[in-house]
Amino acid sequence: MFGLRKLEESNEHTGSYYAASANWATNYARLEEDLNCDVVVVGGGFSGVNTALELAERGYDVVLLEANRISWGASGRNGGQIIGGIGHDPERFIKRIGEDGVRAIYQMGIEARDVIRERVETYDIQCDLKWGYCDVALKPRHMKQFAQWQEFERGIGNPHAYTLLDGDELKEYVVSDRYLGGLHNTANGHIQPLNLCIGEAKALESLGGRIFEQSRVRSLEQGCPARVRTDQGSVSAKHVVFAGNAYMGGLIPKLASRVLPSSSSVIATEPLPENLVKQLMPGDVAVCDPRTALDYFRLSADNRMLFGGLSNYTGMEPKNLEAVMRRKMAAVFPQLGDVAIDFAWSGWIGIGLNRMPQLGRLADNVAYIQAYSGHGVAPTHIMARITAEMIAKESPRFDIMAKINHWPFPGGKLLRRPALAVGMAYYKALDAL
Ligand SMILES: Cc1cc2nc3c(=O)[nH]c(=O)nc-3n(C[C@H](O)[C@H](O)[C@H](O)COP(=O)(O)OP(=O)(O)OC[C@H]3O[C@@H](n4cnc5c(N)ncnc54)[C@H](O)[C@@H]3O)c2cc1C
Repeated sequence: MFGLRKLEESNEHTGSYYAASANWATNYARLEEDLNCDVVVVGGGFSGVNTALELAERGYDVVLLEANRISWGASGRNGGQIIGGIGHDPERFIKRIGEDGVRAIYQMGIEARDVIRERVETYDIQCDLKWGYCDVALKPRHMKQFAQWQEFERGIGNPHAYTLLDGDELKEYVVSDRYLGGLHNTANGHIQPLNLCIGEAKALESLGGRIFEQSRVRSLEQGCPARVRTDQGSVSAKHVVFAGNAYMGGLIPKLASRVLPSSSSVIATEPLPENLVKQLMPGDVAVCDPRTALDYFRLSADNRMLFGGLSNYTGMEPKNLEAVMRRKMAAVFPQLGDVAIDFAWSGWIGIGLNRMPQLGRLADNVAYIQAYSGHGVAPTHIMARITAEMIAKESPRFDIMAKINHWPFPGGKLLRRPALAVGMAYYKALDAL
């Protein structure tokens, strides 16, 4: 067991490998005036930047307000793993959304990755995009699950190949005695997420979108136009979209009660020698295991091992983060037991009770997107697209997602974390069987 501490945060990027390898440091002005526009978007992570970008591409006059820096939150701190699919098991909501709704969500899960591919190509974003992914099995039952996933992906018309690998075949991609086999696909992949997000912001700017950093929204006045206020300015708009996710605090109580900020952590080693990289990860894929408190890892473009894990409903991180993460990494790759760790950081994932992204409206012209439950790099991109489609009255896809009910976490502000920690301990115990 380890002691925990609060995440130390400032208005600048956390000390991540991504911030250290950013293509440039964004430095957009603080909002210090009263503006009017078609749509104001609150939150400069993937959800917010891409909603604003999709709208700017359609000719809307858009303002984006970010409390800190573009990609300061989860979007600039994550494992960089591009994983298709939306949430967990949309079939559960078939009574609310019908078979067509379920099918539409599966299609969104396929399209999500394509949006990233398009962004990178259209705007020539340098973000180390690579395709290739392995789910890895720790138990024989995981291999059975993978065989079911393979069938499932075929069944929903996923055009990409999913290949089951036995222990020897897996070694073409990942070489660790820990795993019994895996499921490889080329649909998923990995990126330097902060560079993707600031590249998308630059694309937004190039289309006339106005971006403000260090501009936390403090209040919403509903109406038409609606108005959001920061400490030194305001924006009146025909539409407002809230995309502050786990970092929005109590600004909108209805949203705060439905998203639990939970922490996850990542370390980046020193750059590894080429021969060691070939020994450990010859396939240069992103890797994930299927447990509740999962390990996820991949190589960076400069051959660092980026190793993540430690989902924690307390929202805190271990006091000795580096040592805890090193132990987890060495359990997979004993050869890395003594390498230098250059960066260690944590961030907040927005967990929702039913593990489906939450989209909806606070009023006819005030929408929100949040709660990807740790799986948002690709889903944010498609949720942003369907939010823009909703505002542009182009498609009913937003309303399919909005029909799904999302309940507040039980236990209120004080008890919801302990209640969920108990739940998580239960699932961790099941994983260990
Ligand atoms: C450590 C970690 C590892 C992860 N790994 C993966 C992974 O490998 N693959 C994957 O698919 N997903 C992963 N995720 C999840 C993924 O990163 C998120 O789902 C996704 O980035 C959410 O994007 P977002 O734009 O909705 O939220 P965020 O990126 O958190 O952005 C919200 C932004 O809103 C701003 N904001 C908040 N309130 C206000 C306000 N009042 N006014 C103005 N601005 C405001 C914040 O400053 C923040 O920048 C991981 C998350 C973490 C933390």
